[in-house]
Amino acid sequence: MHGFELAKATSVAEARDLLADSKGSVLKAGGIDLLDHLKEHLLEPSRVVDLKSIPGLDRITVEADSGLKIGPLATLARVAGHPGVQKSHPALAKACGEAASPQIRNVATIGGNLLQRPRCWYYRLESFKCLKKGGDVCFAVGGENRYHVIFGGGPSYAPHPSNAAVALVAYGASFVLDGPKGARTVAAGEFFVPPTKDPERENVLALGEVLTEIRVPSAAGMKSTYTEIRERTAFDWPLVSLAVALRTEGGAVKDARVVLGAVAPIPWRSTRTEQAILGKPLDEATLSAAARAAIVGAAPLSDNGYKVGLVQTLMRRTLLSLA
Ligand SMILES: Cc1cc2nc3c(=O)[nH]c(=O)nc-3n(C[C@H](O)[C@H](O)[C@H](O)COP(=O)(O)OP(=O)(O)OC[C@H]3O[C@@H](n4cnc5c(N)ncnc54)[C@H](O)[C@@H]3O)c2cc1C
Repeated sequence: MHGFELAKATSVAEARDLLADSKGSVLKAGGIDLLDHLKEHLLEPSRVVDLKSIPGLDRITVEADSGLKIGPLATLARVAGHPGVQKSHPALAKACGEAASPQIRNVATIGGNLLQRPRCWYYRLESFKCLKKGGDVCFAVGGENRYHVIFGGGPSYAPHPSNAAVALVAYGASFVLDGPKGARTVAAGEFFVPPTKDPERENVLALGEVLTEIRVPSAAGMKSTYTEIRERTAFDWPLVSLAVALRTEGGAVKDARVVLGAVAPIPWRSTRTEQAILGKPLDEATLSAAARAAIVGAAPLSDNGYKVGLVQTLMRRTLLSLA
């Protein structure tokens, strides 16, 4: 591993200054994803700025209207186990509680989870100079692509890796970003960006910006859940995941947000499914229509056609659980 200076920031302002001060600076939260990058020489920073030393940045607050404010340094284990989050936003608690392993969830933060880089094996290996590392090829296209995307692919086909992101987009959350030009708030649905914009980036976090807060609006009166299918029940990334937040009135679906994970380069809002269930009761006919709608536009690669069937199964199963 390349040598670097470890700087412990004591405030967001200091973290920002330490970032701006050196072009080779990177931020560290739990360090799980960062360490992988350092070990594989994907990053060779001259300075690592540790955010964990900033007091208060791990706070979880349930507001009077049961909206949430979550500090980016709250660990996945704390978000998953927080009684207020479990009650008001069960899909978020479940998404965080199913990520990785207990050991990792005790260290990994929700901010780092949102900002982790894709798990594509070509990206993760130093020897492959892929599109995500400034190269001009996505090796998954003609290579091993069984875990890659079936929606929104091109020019890069790596799926978005974050469980928490799927739930947060479903709840219409927003992120507060603090940088050299001041603070700004970005909707979760606009924060994650497809590779057509820039294959080297998965989000709009600008150079020098720090994620300082996650705001989740109240989900009072909504039913919501997060589900996933993975290859094994031990810790693993999902093959397909799904977060649904919906409101019913008089037995029919009034509002719905349906977001798929692990199938696209961004958390994939399935507006087709939303249209298929709006105004309908969640009965057998609607479930079938939802499952059909969920795969419209799917474009599997050579080895991941099985994900199309998994999306349909998960959609049915999840909506049935909310019915
Ligand atoms: C075996 C294994 C299984 C896993 N399974 C899953 C899974 O099923 N689902 C899932 O979602 N994840 C999974 N993960 C990924 C894991 O959850 C993430 O690596 C972890 O959440 C990253 O959080 P961290 O706090 O360690 O981030 P770090 O590694 O510290 O940071 C990650 C990135 O975010 C940046 N960053 C961190 N915080 C901020 C901030 N506040 N502002 C700006 N930039 C910031 C860092 O600079 C870095 O680029 C798995 C990981 C492993 C090793």
